[in-house]
Amino acid sequence: MTTNPIGVHALVWVGDTGPASLAYAIDKTKAAGFDLLELSLHDSVNLDVAAAREALRTAGLGVVCSRGLAFDADVSSDDPAVVERGEKLLHDSLAVTRALGGTHFTGALYSALGKYGRPLTEAGRRNVVTVLRRLAQEADGHGMTLGLEICNRYETNVINTARDALRLADDIGEDNVLIHLDTYHMNIEEDDLVRPVREVGDRLGYVHIGENHRGYLGSGHLDFTAFFHALGDIRYQGPITFESFSSAVVMEGLSNDLAIWRNLWDDGDDLARHARAFIAGHLHTSR
Ligand code: MN
Repeated sequence: MTTNPIGVHALVWVGDTGPASLAYAIDKTKAAGFDLLELSLHDSVNLDVAAAREALRTAGLGVVCSRGLAFDADVSSDDPAVVERGEKLLHDSLAVTRALGGTHFTGALYSALGKYGRPLTEAGRRNVVTVLRRLAQEADGHGMTLGLEICNRYETNVINTARDALRLADDIGEDNVLIHLDTYHMNIEEDDLVRPVREVGDRLGYVHIGENHRGYLGSGHLDFTAFFHALGDIRYQGPITFESFSSAVVMEGLSNDLAIWRNLWDDGDDLARHARAFIAGHLHTSR
């Protein structure tokens, strides 16, 4: 029986990706029994890519990179200069992902992470489609896939539901653009945790598991039993990554973009070990 790779977001361990922090995150991820580490590229200026690649390889861990854009570097803008800065950020981040040995680059690749004061414009949407089509074609040349992470209305105005994301992926029209579901966002925007999984089906490429408040799994009200049953029903084989944030571990920029104002945990090790067991347990009993 095959089982899904189980991952953890590095922000459970450390707030930056400098050499010492990354070495710590890799050690902890491995020791807690995970298969892959997700790195946010918001701190990529401090990332020693060659050293990180070697440390991940030595630990036998996979890597997935994620990011959102910024309001001054945003491919959903109407302003060509802003779109151009966003596109450069995407291509640079794809190159970092590849240099780390990753094959999947995901997140809010289509907009800033933050509250927009107005709906997405038609021109803005066309810019998203054009830029992501080019990025997907470049990724495909390296055997890589892109993920469209569906985020809630307070973090983007581009895609808030699985249906939005499927429509956007159809318009981009490249087979290596996959859908990324996150239970935290689904809880805010979707009818339930089952229907979107069925709608996305074999186009699902990545999953974030997070509680409704982004703290300990099982301490909130999300129906993870139903969600894992739905993943089983579509025979999802891809990665499932635990994502949780607390004011105890802060990455300036990203933490502010995600409105991490509250302390939901202090001990990342206890949190991560619990999450690993929680996810493995649900996978076991849902098959
Ligand atoms: Mn997420």
